[in-house]
Amino acid sequence: MSDDLGLWFDPSKCLIAGEWVAPSGGQYLPLENPSTGEKIGQIARGTGADIDAAVAAAEAARHGPWGRMSAAERGRILMTLGRMVLERVDDLARIEALDVGKPLKQARADAVALARYMEFYGGAADKLHGETIPYLEGYTVYTLREPHGVTGHIVPWNYPMQIIGRSVGAALATGNACVLKPAEDACLTALAFAEMAKAAGLPDGALNVVPGLGSEAGAALTAHPGVHHISFTGSVATGVMVQEAAAKNVIPVTLELGGKSPQVVFEDADIPAALPFLVNAGIQNAGQTCSASSRILVQRAVYDQVVERMALRYDALKVGRAMDDLDVGPLISARQKNIVSGFIDKGADLQIAGQGQLVSAPNGGNYVRPTLFANVSPGHCLARDEIFGPVQVVIPFEDEEEAVAIANGTDYGLVASVWSQNGARQMRMAKRIRAGQIFINNYGAGGGVELPFGGMGKSGHGREKGFEAMYGFTVLKTVAAFHG
Ligand code: NAD
Repeated sequence: MSDDLGLWFDPSKCLIAGEWVAPSGGQYLPLENPSTGEKIGQIARGTGADIDAAVAAAEAARHGPWGRMSAAERGRILMTLGRMVLERVDDLARIEALDVGKPLKQARADAVALARYMEFYGGAADKLHGETIPYLEGYTVYTLREPHGVTGHIVPWNYPMQIIGRSVGAALATGNACVLKPAEDACLTALAFAEMAKAAGLPDGALNVVPGLGSEAGAALTAHPGVHHISFTGSVATGVMVQEAAAKNVIPVTLELGGKSPQVVFEDADIPAALPFLVNAGIQNAGQTCSASSRILVQRAVYDQVVERMALRYDALKVGRAMDDLDVGPLISARQKNIVSGFIDKGADLQIAGQGQLVSAPNGGNYVRPTLFANVSPGHCLARDEIFGPVQVVIPFEDEEEAVAIANGTDYGLVASVWSQNGARQMRMAKRIRAGQIFINNYGAGGGVELPFGGMGKSGHGREKGFEAMYGFTVLKTVAAFHG
């Protein structure tokens, strides 16, 4: 497939109040193709002034036609948008592959998920309601679920379409007006989505997009006194800054941060069924997945067998250009490649059980070989720190007690899975492992728009996806009427 971007919109603009405008500072950031390192265009370097304008546009939208629209009408626009996204799935996949290095099939899956979010939240928009509460004689009490107002959305580069879908989708469905700051390394699908939202009939100002640097446009958005809620997905370090900025304005934040998610394989597991999940959950999107399963915990009796069979799969992994659509593409940037290579170097004293092969890796692309480390002790940095690359460690354990201790032995708590045919053990493990999502005999990194998702510990707080996200994007008001 050709490396032609074939864009149907101008990637160097911001969308503010329904108008495509140049960044006020007149400055731009380069766009690079991670598969080759080539410059493929430029995006706006939005400023604090652009964020001011976007927040003002969102504030105006919530007092204009958007704020007065019925929930059913909002839902219809989102469903129209979902259909438009589906019609352009291949275009979206192509530009995502070129912009972030995601192999085409994986990029396509993200575009389909974006459409699913619009369908889900479009359908759910008019199904969220308050309650009546029995109270004193002579009173009627009820609750209203109201939008926060202006919501800020800060998105990372690893799954732009999915994260925009879950966060902006739920916020719009509940009647908020959004300001979106996509990641500097991954703006194109955010801009494409905004262009489609405009064409789908979303009123001006309901969705504003200001690309730019995290330290400029991102920081301006999180500190802005006109923003009423922040949804942030990204690293722990930035999440802390976002929460500090939000605290100064006393506004709620949803933080979706990192992870070190374990899959726990017991001796009674259906190992052939587990194997594809064990490996794919670690190498999907070149391991740049917050819910990547980077730790595989295996009971001693089946340990050698699982390592051997995972290693065979690793050795067969093909790595190369996103447009060649192999198992694993490049990492997002040279910086990320250095970080991941540094971790692989830290495992020099460990046993490398299996490694993928570079088959189409042009000079200048950000490639690393997917690497499986065996016999890693739970205290080793490879078993504790988030690597955010295609690297997994396999750790042996003796019994349930030890499995729980290792599974819960990091700062994170995002996702986990339990592989066992013993129902009682499945239930015990699901209760004892500290994670926002537990899968039993499957693993769902990135899947399930219906399933509430979010972290415990340093993986963050608040829930996105599913109906639960709609509670997060609304504020509850209690009305107590005395009528005698
Ligand atoms: P990052 O924190 O550097 O950037 C995320 C976003 O925050 C980007 O849009 C960036 O421009 C913006 N940003 C940076 N500095 C900012 C600041 N001072 N104020 C406001 N915004 C700022 O993270 P990244 O490198 O883009 O993503 C990788 C990290 O994100 C990993 O740690 C990963 O685990 C995490 N992540 C988590 C999830 C999840 O759902 N839990 C999903 C994807 C990524």
